[in-house]
Amino acid sequence: MSSPKPAWPDSIARASVVAMSIYSARGGATNALHLDANENPYAPPPVVGASDYNRYPAQQPESLTARLAGLYGVDTNQVMVGRGADEGIECLLRAFCEAGQDSILTCPPTFGYYKTCADIQGAGNVEVPLSAAYEWDIPAVIAAAKPSSVKMVFLCSPNNPSGNSLTREAILSVCDALPETLIVVDEAYIEFSTIESLVDKVGTVPNLVVLRTLSKAYALAGVRGGALLADARVIELLLKVLPPYPIARPVEAAVLAALAPSAMSVHAQRLAETLAERNRLADGLRNSDFVETVYPSDANFLLLAIKDEDKLFARLRQFNVKIRDYRSTTGRVRVSIGSPDENTIALQAFGVTDIAERADRIGETFRKTNETDISVRVNLDDVKQTKISTGIGFYDHMLEQIAKHGNMGLTMSCEGDLHIDAHHTVEDTALAFGSALKQALGDKAGIGRYGYVIPMDETQAQVAIDLSGRPAAVFRGEFPTDHVGEFPVEMCPHFFESLAQTLGAAIHIDVKGDNSHHMIEACFKGVGRALRPAFAISGSDIPSTKGTL
Ligand code: PMP
Repeated sequence: MSSPKPAWPDSIARASVVAMSIYSARGGATNALHLDANENPYAPPPVVGASDYNRYPAQQPESLTARLAGLYGVDTNQVMVGRGADEGIECLLRAFCEAGQDSILTCPPTFGYYKTCADIQGAGNVEVPLSAAYEWDIPAVIAAAKPSSVKMVFLCSPNNPSGNSLTREAILSVCDALPETLIVVDEAYIEFSTIESLVDKVGTVPNLVVLRTLSKAYALAGVRGGALLADARVIELLLKVLPPYPIARPVEAAVLAALAPSAMSVHAQRLAETLAERNRLADGLRNSDFVETVYPSDANFLLLAIKDEDKLFARLRQFNVKIRDYRSTTGRVRVSIGSPDENTIALQAFGVTDIAERADRIGETFRKTNETDISVRVNLDDVKQTKISTGIGFYDHMLEQIAKHGNMGLTMSCEGDLHIDAHHTVEDTALAFGSALKQALGDKAGIGRYGYVIPMDETQAQVAIDLSGRPAAVFRGEFPTDHVGEFPVEMCPHFFESLAQTLGAAIHIDVKGDNSHHMIEACFKGVGRALRPAFAISGSDIPSTKGTL
């Protein structure tokens, strides 16, 4: 009697993997006396944060798995955390493709690692190339994937290197047409696209696998973190072929810190900036004599058809700019979107002379203590980039006043110990704000340096500021009440002292009035107004006889 056919996805996985159980290793320390893993009982000599480095980590560290499940909106049993999206690809091949027998399907030109992993595993690679305009031939993909030996179809969307995307409908139609086959949608670049991710379909479409990475949108390429999202039964198979301890403890800590709730608004601003830079770079490159075509992109790179290649590559060497050379496979090159300054250099290397706008002056500070977890990003040249959330309504409103009247973008998030009081939140955010401003000012060349204002309604506040590099704060004023909302009025002068300290500025404030709300608001508005001309650029001199500020 033949044994019954196993249920999907076991039916398409390698029989030897189905028969395996997950490698049994403790991994992850509990508060038991651990004499079970031949670990060293002593923490290593003081490497920062190393108190548990002597213990093996869990195969899937719990807090990291939970964070990534939350980030992508799936259940924890639908995530496999790995060393980048790359490890997801490796595990898929290992678990599903029998050497010399099974294949994957790819649509070149696309990300090369799918084929590399197939080669390593001894699996075949059925190719259904994109058209000359880099479009997918979906009926051809479905037809070519019909044989049961094709275990998975890789759809990279947005596609690397062409930058274009498949629609959700097209991908779901492939899932529908090939219910036994894994449809692996590589969304490494999806954050840069306007097309919505398919993560919401994970689990309900059993054969859908989504790859996500922290390397691109979250700037963690060097940390190695990514997620494979799939039906829980697929994840269970993959965990059998994932090594027992893929995620080093410092990696877990780094990812959790980089994805702290307070950092998310800064990630969003950076993403917006990358998209704006993608437009600036594309517009600039269209004016380059070396560029024939700039292909539309949903990702953080641009694919270019180029001409006069030798001269262009000589110029790129001269400017020390490296781009990806795909001339042998596609006849094209790929340029990543860098920081505004880097993109300006790239444009110069491409011989573009009319380069739009100088780069914005941006400063970022991330500050974490046991009392507060803060991220701040200021943009002195783009007032639209403002989003503030400190947990104190009145204080958020005051910070908006500084940003608005200072004509700067301020993104600030703080998770503070407000159950104690507002003190740490106000003080620490002021310190972080001052540091970010100082960083954004750079060498201060061309700035106005001084600013003053005397705004009046029934309250009068006089503010004078000098961006001298020397911290000093003088505050004169008596408030008629203790608090405005949850905001203690004594934190108003303390905010400006803290700001002056890290910004390196003299801030003088005199305020008179009958209403604490008006008085505080006038101070914040006044400092904003005073900072506006102080930050404004006119010329290129450092405005000090010392030659430095
Ligand atoms: N998929 C695509 C399409 C990629 O371009 C890359 C990296 N360049 C990856 C996956 C792998 O990303 P990770 O750094 O997460 O391994």
